[in-house]
Amino acid sequence: MVSKKMTFGLLVVLLAVFFSCSQQMTEDRILQTAKKIHEEAITLDTHVDISTNYATPEVDPGIDNPRLRCDLVKMERGGMDGVFLAVYVGQRQNLDAEGYKWAHDVAMEKFEAIHRLTQEMYPDRCEFATSPDDVERIVKTGKRAIMTGIENGYPVGEDLSLIKKYYDLGTRYITLSHSRHNQICDSSSPREPLHNGISEFGKKVVAEMNRLGIMCDVSHISEKSFWDLIEITKAPIIASHSGCYALNPVDRNLTDDQLKALTKNGGVIQIVALGGFLKAETPEHREAVRALREELAFPSRREMRRMTQEEREALRPKFEEYRKRVEEIEETIPGTNIQDYVNHIDHAMKVAGIDHVGIGTDFDGGAGIPGFNNHGEALNVTIELVRRGYSAKEIKKIWGGNLLRVWRDVEKVASELQSEG
Ligand SMILES: [Zn+2]
Repeated sequence: MVSKKMTFGLLVVLLAVFFSCSQQMTEDRILQTAKKIHEEAITLDTHVDISTNYATPEVDPGIDNPRLRCDLVKMERGGMDGVFLAVYVGQRQNLDAEGYKWAHDVAMEKFEAIHRLTQEMYPDRCEFATSPDDVERIVKTGKRAIMTGIENGYPVGEDLSLIKKYYDLGTRYITLSHSRHNQICDSSSPREPLHNGISEFGKKVVAEMNRLGIMCDVSHISEKSFWDLIEITKAPIIASHSGCYALNPVDRNLTDDQLKALTKNGGVIQIVALGGFLKAETPEHREAVRALREELAFPSRREMRRMTQEEREALRPKFEEYRKRVEEIEETIPGTNIQDYVNHIDHAMKVAGIDHVGIGTDFDGGAGIPGFNNHGEALNVTIELVRRGYSAKEIKKIWGGNLLRVWRDVEKVASELQSEG
């Protein structure tokens, strides 16, 4: 006769087996669902940085390049369909002809690099896109769509005709400023304003961008500049790589009021994957990184911002070691992770709505977090979204649908403005 005790014991074992099996099944189902959605979605990233020697034998984007978080191999592996490679130009102190000329020349070098990638180096694996229609067509062929925007309006100088020149080179967004005030508007840093928002010249820049069909990008600009832009723009705007201020109050992030304004404007916030914008650092993390900087004699972010392009380039070899060691620190100290990343998507979704949030990593510009360190790991974002109950339709909007909608709206406004004459 089987004792009651034994029957109970058997029941407990059976239940434990059942629950662990069903948990495994749930995990498997999440993975399968995520893979299917990820495959079907048009997956776009609105912000990846490149160096001036990009698309050369030194910085080859056609191999699984340890120097890059975004290259064609990682995009292919991670199921990434398209990326905006940023023509980033640093901000020099002088707002004069000499500074503008320098900025123009840096921008031209980066345009050349991007066109070298798509036209000379790997035309069989990627293609340059200048419209949402282009993106959809290219993705269907199985190639990566490469797009571009200029990060910092500094290279526009005081010459409105340059905006058309950059448009003709493929520019489809311009981040109005970088991390210092320029001739167009105030940046989110320093806090002391120069124009108190967008300058008179900046208003003409916005009008010309609206007329041509170039998206206005608010990542980096001051809050007052943002509100000025909301008032004067005739087209929806984007934040190509920003986070939510409510989750981490840094000046680069958008407040809830700004997110609500994006909804009204029809625009989109593309969530940045840079740890410092996603979560306030713990004292342990900060101390470990500080000690590392000291050991390697590596400059701080603030010091880096003051450096010239050439000085930064010279830091490259040291940067590789620094980056690797920071990743090691992140593994031992709980820093930012993919949950924090998706928390910002969640928040933007709740405040601005599902039609107004997307992905803009800032890879190769300082971004990368455990779980989403490069484009090869892009599926992890989809897995986390599925785990949190997002539907296929919602995830497709986040990964690219929203950005393509905004871009189409911007094109529509431009053609209306142009037909008005
Ligand atoms: Zn940036």
